[in-house]
Amino acid sequence: MDIHEFQAKHLFEAYGISVPPYRIVSCENDVDEALDELAISTAVVKVQVHAGGRGKAGGVKIGKTRQEIKALVAKMIGMKIVNNQTGPQGVTANQIMIAELTDIAKEYYMGIVIDRAKAQIVMMVSPEGGMDIEEVAEKHPEKIFKIAISLDGKIADGDLERLASFMKWEDQVKEQGIDIAKKLALLFVEKDGSMLEINPLVETPDGDIVALDAKFSVDDNALFRQKEIAAMYDPTQKPTAEVIAHDLDLAYIALDGTVGCMVNGAGLAMATMDIIQHFGKDKGVWPANFLDVGGGADKEKVAKSFKIILSDPQVKAILVNIFGGIMKCDVIAEGIIAAVKEQNIHVPLVVRLEGTNVDKGKKLLETSGLKIITATDLSDAAKKVVACGNTH
Ligand code: GDP
Ligand code: MN
Repeated sequence: MDIHEFQAKHLFEAYGISVPPYRIVSCENDVDEALDELAISTAVVKVQVHAGGRGKAGGVKIGKTRQEIKALVAKMIGMKIVNNQTGPQGVTANQIMIAELTDIAKEYYMGIVIDRAKAQIVMMVSPEGGMDIEEVAEKHPEKIFKIAISLDGKIADGDLERLASFMKWEDQVKEQGIDIAKKLALLFVEKDGSMLEINPLVETPDGDIVALDAKFSVDDNALFRQKEIAAMYDPTQKPTAEVIAHDLDLAYIALDGTVGCMVNGAGLAMATMDIIQHFGKDKGVWPANFLDVGGGADKEKVAKSFKIILSDPQVKAILVNIFGGIMKCDVIAEGIIAAVKEQNIHVPLVVRLEGTNVDKGKKLLETSGLKIITATDLSDAAKKVVACGNTH
């Protein structure tokens, strides 16, 4: 789960990581109080959205007077940021950060990721901050330095020394830079991070190191024990379909093809993605999404699942691929029939059922009088849905 910049900075502050003082406003009228509390009259004004690249999109501006800051806030509330991080629907800013302006002598990059290939938590730093780090990684990999973080959130002393010399940090800058690296590593582990990024981490003309930007994502599987972070969940930053799915405890992942997939279980979901890709790749057909109804879906969940899948206008065909274990196939079939009748499903629907009461389930579908295409096995189902997904 992603959180906002101001929420990440709130976590940083709790670990003693220096950030420019800030306030959050949601309308122009809040600006006076925020500026009074901060005791400033020039400020950087930043949209709070679950996406980076705000600067380039006009979502980060400097206001030199109270009037300018108010005008910027008025303009930025409701601003939609659309870029390669947001998907085509974009994300809308409902909150704006007003922060003290920081003088920048140098911009650095510091981030933490989980390197699955190495099975390690890895800190990445670069003296080339403020830029697109993916571009630096691609064109100048020698400008990125990586060190390991232990499972208890520590970095070896030797690695910290190497990090400082790579960044050309000395004296006070070195001391503060190393201090931030250590605190971030600990925060990442203690808060169950899946990604953390400061871009830019800046050095001020006075030689202080400050986190000007902050990004943090928490591992969803740890939300049960990260209650403070779980409470930062902001449904306004997600596509509606994902929010509905989340509320119903269904896993929905949007992709960019034309076949909507309703499955149960993560393994079956992956197998379904693979087999559609296998039969569809030469025909330009691949999944539009997948929705995992989980182990205990009932009629109502099946009905809502169809609504979520169909809310994507790209969907040209649906494949239902369900293994009836805990859930019986005849119950699923009833759910499908009810949903098709109620929702006037306008795209071809291919259903493959397997498991408990499969014959009863298939019979219900075949005798329903509805236009439901049944499949004998997974390959048959994939071939049939690819043929439908192709007709556009
Ligand atoms: P992003 O574009 O979403 O990554 O947002 P950032 O928080 O990184 O802001 C974009 C850019 O605005 C930064 O890279 C800085 O160059 C600039 N910026 C942000 N805050 C300040 C500030 O306090 N002072 C100055 N001089 N520049 C700032
Ligand atoms: Mn940034």
